[in-house]
Amino acid sequence: MPELSRRVGEFTDSVIRRMTRISDGCPGSINLSQGFPDFDPPKELLDALAEAAYKGPHQYSITFGAENFREALALKAAKTLKRTIDPEKEIVVTCGGTEAMMCAMMTICNPGDKVMVFSPFYENYGADAILSGAEPIYIPLVPPEYSFDISLIEDGFRQGAKAIIVCNPSNPCGKVFTREELSAIGELALRYDAFVVTDEVYEHIIYAPNVHVAAASLPGMFDHTITCSSLSKTYSITGWRLGYLIGPEDVIEAAKKVHDFLTVGAAAPLQEAAVAGLTLPDSYYSDLQELYTRKRDHFLAGLDRIGLKHNVPQGSYFVLVDISDFLELDEFRGWTDLEFCEWMVTNIGVAAVPGSSFFREDVNNLIRLHFARSEKTLDEALERLGKLGALLRR
Ligand code: GLN
Repeated sequence: MPELSRRVGEFTDSVIRRMTRISDGCPGSINLSQGFPDFDPPKELLDALAEAAYKGPHQYSITFGAENFREALALKAAKTLKRTIDPEKEIVVTCGGTEAMMCAMMTICNPGDKVMVFSPFYENYGADAILSGAEPIYIPLVPPEYSFDISLIEDGFRQGAKAIIVCNPSNPCGKVFTREELSAIGELALRYDAFVVTDEVYEHIIYAPNVHVAAASLPGMFDHTITCSSLSKTYSITGWRLGYLIGPEDVIEAAKKVHDFLTVGAAAPLQEAAVAGLTLPDSYYSDLQELYTRKRDHFLAGLDRIGLKHNVPQGSYFVLVDISDFLELDEFRGWTDLEFCEWMVTNIGVAAVPGSSFFREDVNNLIRLHFARSEKTLDEALERLGKLGALLRR
């Protein structure tokens, strides 16, 4: 067989999505690996989707997004970005946040360009870097606060890094970057004439007293920031694959070309229907925040009762559970976190993602669970995890 691209040999499939397939193959297992809700999107979106089925559009939208979708998005994004957004010149609508991120990287990177990535990171960034020819420089986020050393970021920019990727709130550690942290990063990006590429798909899943600050909203930062986000988590529509990039005109002009040749465009009827989400009142977002706060508090209290050690996310719907105590037990000694997760799906009936897929460092003692599930499902998952906890108390 002729040789395949060497690039594709440099990364594996996504472990997050692999765990979902493994979970789907185990009847009855509760999938807390790949993060997506098991509840319905708002009724307004479903009604609009039904209407779009009959009224259309069913043909291509404008490649960089349907006009009414971009207009609604511009108005919504203006609130977080604290400036007016030009729907013609400053937005590209993509197939999910995944394409937005890939499109941003392909738009700004030349082969060999360095890009800073925090560790732990969302696993897509590794593949994004390889596919766009960039070389990652990893900046550790140090637990328990997941704080970082700003001098390492300055070193990265001094070495010529083109950009830094900031996932805020962070998947998988739930860190919400403070205004001060973002300002310090932004100041360096300006000083070294580099980009901040953000992934803000969890922007509305934030736990008080934390608040989400968009890097692009900071003074002088809009021209140096590419904001990537999606409607997936905000409106519980991960399967609709609607995402976007917002940035300065010159960047967006180039990103439009990349996006056009990658995918032509996001699904036209879904863009039409999603306008009903983008125009929901502000109360929708505070209700969503309350809903997830209840889920987080309920799930973490359950983990505490069972005696599973975990971090406390400030945002997103993920929690990292420490499995060190289990790896000390005879039956798990020498196991990898992946082996532990595979064992958990079949023996406990709960699917998790091995932490090693998020860390540059050699981390084998964490697993990631998500809690975007109904309370009933979370209770059932906790009941099963209770069997796991019991292993420590034999
Ligand atoms: N962000 C989700 C997660 O980390 C998954 C997103 C995806 O699979 N595209 O689980």
